[in-house]
Amino acid sequence: MVNNLFKKTLIDGAAELGITLKPGQLVLFEKYYQMVIDTNKSVNLTAITDEQEFIVKHLIDSLTCLYAINIKKGARVLDVGTGAGFPGIPLAVCRPDLLLTMVEATKKKVRFLEEVIQGLALRNVKILHTRAEDFGRKKAYREKYDVVVSRAVAPLAVLAEYCLPPLRTNGVFISMKGPNTKEEVIAAQNALAVLGGVIEDTIGIRLPYLGDERKLIIISKVRSSPDAFPRRAGIPAKKPL
Ligand code: SAH
Repeated sequence: MVNNLFKKTLIDGAAELGITLKPGQLVLFEKYYQMVIDTNKSVNLTAITDEQEFIVKHLIDSLTCLYAINIKKGARVLDVGTGAGFPGIPLAVCRPDLLLTMVEATKKKVRFLEEVIQGLALRNVKILHTRAEDFGRKKAYREKYDVVVSRAVAPLAVLAEYCLPPLRTNGVFISMKGPNTKEEVIAAQNALAVLGGVIEDTIGIRLPYLGDERKLIIISKVRSSPDAFPRRAGIPAKKPL
């Protein structure tokens, strides 16, 4: 399976983010793409199947996290609501030093990711079948992660309740969003204050080739999150803080 266009598109796109990919990593990304396409025939993983679009909107978009902040070597990273593995899998492939945990509520996606982890022999990745609310209430996972990332899961007010409790104080939460974040940022002010998050920066990025605009909201945790949060599964989305 040698696809030079796939590799060139990915190399050049990643280079625009200042990321140099090694030949072995390109092979893993290509294999991952094949696995998504194959499984997508029976499990609804993504609407994006065109090769260039997949590279840009899934792989490179995931890697924008590495452009946005400097993640320390060996950091513990959590991806909340990873779906088919975004941004978690591309981050783990690109940074084998990171200890990556992914949580996902849908069993079929979890099963797919177990196959990906095995197929790509990713030794730095763990996938857990759980809801973020249940995960965040367990002592073993509270305030344990250096970085939490999440893409396309919920509005920021809800996401804060999923993502801040597992984050350690002084850790960073990256919320990956489209171009329009103004309203959800306003709506999230109370949730952030309650859970100990402060918006440090919003980084605008244009994706290579397609030019789509993205915003990465960078949130630091300045205080520990009260034990009462996250509330029971379903409540954060139903009644955002
Ligand atoms: N992050 C991926 C998937 C986005 S779709 C991407 O950007 O491509 C949102 C995913 O989040 C779905 O797979 C859904 O099952 C999962 N999800 C939604 N709410 C969740 C929760 N409370 N806990 C865990 N996973 C959740």
